[in-house]
Amino acid sequence: MPVEIQVMNIQEQLCALMALQRIDSALDEARRKYAQLDQGKKERALYEEAKAAHEAAQEAVRAQETILQDTTLEMQALQEKHLKEEKRLYSGQIKSPRELQDLQAEVEMLARHIDTLSGRREEHIIQLEVVQGREANARQKLQKTGAAYKERIKAFNESAALLRDEASSLKSARAEAVHVPEQAMLERYEAARLQRNGVAIAVVLENGEVCGGCHMTLARNQVQELKLLNSIVVCDNCGRMLCLE
Ligand SMILES: [Zn+2]
Repeated sequence: MPVEIQVMNIQEQLCALMALQRIDSALDEARRKYAQLDQGKKERALYEEAKAAHEAAQEAVRAQETILQDTTLEMQALQEKHLKEEKRLYSGQIKSPRELQDLQAEVEMLARHIDTLSGRREEHIIQLEVVQGREANARQKLQKTGAAYKERIKAFNESAALLRDEASSLKSARAEAVHVPEQAMLERYEAARLQRNGVAIAVVLENGEVCGGCHMTLARNQVQELKLLNSIVVCDNCGRMLCLE
């Protein structure tokens, strides 16, 4: 009975390859899912954009603060000078009418200058409030986009960890399953996997009528050959090795 023993042997080996195929397909699927995980590229771009906008808004506030400070200092210096000259004007110490007239003109000129600066300072204060408002909005947007990015990364890490765990246990299962079939069968399986989109072997479905790989109806003689003869039978349509389960 050597032929029958060999037929059984091939069937067993095909079943072993089928078990390996299921693990390999699951591994391929896990890799595909991993590659498709959303790593938050969009959220990161929005966050970076908000960060740059916030930095620009902060810079605008600093620049406006400097302008306001400069104007304030300039105004204070003029006010001091104005006060001093005014004191001198009314001190009674200056007797020359010409000198008094000049001093009067100087005091008036200083007062006008102070008025102008005061008006400008008011505008600077209003403008500072405007840029501070923009900075507050930009900060809020930065916080919002930062939180969304962080949330996305957290979700990515969780999904990635699950897929890594899954792949790790599949790899352990594969390490055991790969020792069952003979080397020559394994080589044939690996070569077919490369040629046939990762699926080298297919189960015969629906009472031995349909290829589980391409779902086409199998020729009757193919199925009989598979059941009775000592050979590997491949599907006429998709070329995958057939396996009875
Ligand atoms: Zn097929």
